[in-house]
Amino acid sequence: MAIISTPAIVLRSMDHRETSKLAFFFTRRRGKVTGVLKGIRKSPRKFGSGLEKFSVNDIVYYEYRNSDVHLVSQCDMRECFSAFRGHARRIIAAEYAAELVNRIAVAEDPNPAVYDLLVEYFRALCVDRDIDRLVHMFQIKFLALSGFRPHIDSCVTCGKEISGRTERAGFSMKKGGLVCRRCQGRDFDLWPVSAGMLATLLYIEREQWAGCLKLKIPPVIRQELRRVLNSFLVFHLEKNIRSAKYLS
Ligand SMILES: [Zn+2]
Repeated sequence: MAIISTPAIVLRSMDHRETSKLAFFFTRRRGKVTGVLKGIRKSPRKFGSGLEKFSVNDIVYYEYRNSDVHLVSQCDMRECFSAFRGHARRIIAAEYAAELVNRIAVAEDPNPAVYDLLVEYFRALCVDRDIDRLVHMFQIKFLALSGFRPHIDSCVTCGKEISGRTERAGFSMKKGGLVCRRCQGRDFDLWPVSAGMLATLLYIEREQWAGCLKLKIPPVIRQELRRVLNSFLVFHLEKNIRSAKYLS
């Protein structure tokens, strides 16, 4: 049994037995972790946190080898995103990202970059009014950091470089990327994509979060991003994210 100390985001929590709660955390050191907080409902002051959804906490827990549920001995709230309260679109956008992480992340498989991304995204949601852009930024960076990156810098079939402005490439959901003109053949499954959309996607993928916050995205590119990203996520993760439909 190891004692683990780590920052952790509350994805959700639920009552457990008479006086306890189960918390589903996304931790920086261990990825997705389920913990039990014994007695928290009987004596709420025992812990320095009420397990508010999306809040960032410093937790200490005993990691059991033979169980998926670990015993949390300390949980102190470090940051809570109170600006979400009473703001439905912020909550839905936060819910969407939390659900995506919860569905895709494998239990106890650390991905600190995704953890940092989620915290940055929640912070930005508190102050930035352009929620659609933040959602696309999150989707693009999350895909890249969790190994589901769409292949858009060259042809996914032959590897040939595709010069966006001069060549009409198509996007194949099935193959997970761009297909050059020569490889298109009789593939009727291709989506037309604009050079502007591809450039925006690549920029967001490569640029730091703070730099992306300054990016202005024209409405026509936003529409395209929404269409391609949502379909790509559903196709490749083979899961419909419930909160996604409220965002469109
Ligand atoms: Zn090709």
